[in-house]
Amino acid sequence: MENRKLSRRHFIGSVSAVSAGIATSGLAPAMGGVMTTDDKLAILGGNPVHTGSWPKWPRWIPETDEPQLLKVMRSGVWSRAGLADEFERQWAKQIGAKRCLAVVNGTGALHIALAQLGLGGGDEVIVTPYTFIASVSTILMTGAMPVFADIDPETFQISPEQIEKKITPRTRAILPVHILGLPADMPRIMAIAKKHNLVVVEDACQAWLAEINHQKVGTFGNAGCFSFQNSKNIAIGEGGAIVSNDDELMDRCYSFHNFGNPYGSAVGSVGVGTIMAGTKLRMAEYQAAIGLAQLPRLDAETTLRNENAAYLRSKLVDIPGILPYKLYEGVTRAAYHLFPFRYKKEHFKGLSRRTFLRALQAEGVPCSVGYTVPLNRMAYLEHTFNSKNYRKMYPAELLDIRAYNEQNVCPEADRICTEEAVWFTQNMLLGSRKDMDDIASAIDRIRKNADKILNK
Ligand SMILES: *Cc1c(COP(=O)(O)O)cnc(C)c1O
Repeated sequence: MENRKLSRRHFIGSVSAVSAGIATSGLAPAMGGVMTTDDKLAILGGNPVHTGSWPKWPRWIPETDEPQLLKVMRSGVWSRAGLADEFERQWAKQIGAKRCLAVVNGTGALHIALAQLGLGGGDEVIVTPYTFIASVSTILMTGAMPVFADIDPETFQISPEQIEKKITPRTRAILPVHILGLPADMPRIMAIAKKHNLVVVEDACQAWLAEINHQKVGTFGNAGCFSFQNSKNIAIGEGGAIVSNDDELMDRCYSFHNFGNPYGSAVGSVGVGTIMAGTKLRMAEYQAAIGLAQLPRLDAETTLRNENAAYLRSKLVDIPGILPYKLYEGVTRAAYHLFPFRYKKEHFKGLSRRTFLRALQAEGVPCSVGYTVPLNRMAYLEHTFNSKNYRKMYPAELLDIRAYNEQNVCPEADRICTEEAVWFTQNMLLGSRKDMDDIASAIDRIRKNADKILNK
C-alpha cells in the first residue's frame, strides 16, 4: 500500500519534470537565445523571466530516508547511542578530521569548543561582524569579549589585515567564520594565530565540504564547528558537530556535552563521579538517523552548487553594477550556502537595492539583502556588558559601550549590510543551467529598464 502510494507520487513528479522540459525547449527558439532586454518588467505587469519552481529544501526521499528513521523510532532507543556514534565516524571521515563530536546544534558546538579551549573572562576573541548571531553570542557565553575585525568586501570574509590590527595583549583567540559557505583566508589567519600564539575555532556552520588546497575547512584551527539546522546544506532540523585532531580537547568536549561525566582520557577517573561542571547537548538518535540519510547526497549536491555558482558568476560579472563574490586563491571548493553579490545602484540609474530586489522577485527570482545589521551594532552587547558577571569580570572602562562601539567600527560590513549585499539561497544552485540563465537575464532586464521603476 505504502509502496504504491510512493511510486505514484514519484510518477507525478517525473511527469511534471517532462512537461517543464517541453515548455522550456518550446520557448528557447522563440526567444532566439537572445537576452530579452526591452520587454516589460514583471513588476510593471510583464511576464516574469522565470516561471516554474526552484528546487525545494530540505529534501526528503521516503524510499532512502525513512527506513533507518523508522527503525530508530520503533526501537525505543531515542537518546544518544550507536547511530550518533556512526554519524560522528562518517562526518569525521568526510571532513578529514581525527575526531568528531555530534551535538544538538551548531550553537552548542561553538559554545562547547570555546569553553573547552579555555576561553573566559578577560580574554578577547577576534570575530567578523558579518555573520549569524551565534558566532558572537557563544563568545559571550564563555565570559570572553568579542572584538570585531572588518571584512574584505570582495570576499565577504573577515580580513586578515584587520585581524592583525585588533590584536592586543588580551587577545586569546580568533573565530573565523566561513560565512555564506565561502572559505575565509585560513592560511593567512593560521599564520597570524601562530605568530601571536592564539587559539582558532572555525565557525564552519555554513561551510560543509568547503576546502582550501583540498583541505576541508574546519580542520585548519584547533576545532571546527558545523550546523545541520533546517536551512543548512545538510538539514537535520537541529544538529551540530565539532571536529578536531586534538584527542584531549575532544575528550573534554565529550565530557562537557554529557553533564561533565568522564570520557576517554578521563576514563580512569570513573568511579569518582562527575569530573567537571558540564551541560547536556547530546545529539539524539533520530537526529543522527536523519543526518545519515542526508549525508550520502551532500558531495554530489556540493559539486552541482559549485558548477552552477561558477556558471552564474561568469554571467553576472559581465553585468555592470553586479559584483559577485571573489574566492581566495587556493580555494578548491566552496559550500555556497548562499550566493552573494554586491549591487552598485549607480550602474542601475540610482535604483535602490530595495526596489531592485522587488523587481527581481517579480521576475520569479527569490533574493534577499541578507544580514541587515552587523553584529557589532546590536543591543545584545550592551545588555551583556551590564550583566552581573561582566561587571565583576571587567574594569568599567572596558564595558563603556560608547568607547567599545568606537573601537569596533567596521565600515565595510556596514556598507554591505545597509546598501550592497544581495543573496541567493543554496537550493537555487541545485537548479538547471536554464535557471541560472534566467537569473542573469532577469537582472539584465531590470538594469536596462531601471529608469521605468525609479519611483516604484
Ligand atoms: C547556523 C549558524 C550557526 C548556528 O547553528 P545552529 O545549528 O542554528 O545552532 C552558527 N554560525 C553560523 C555562521 C551559522 O550560519
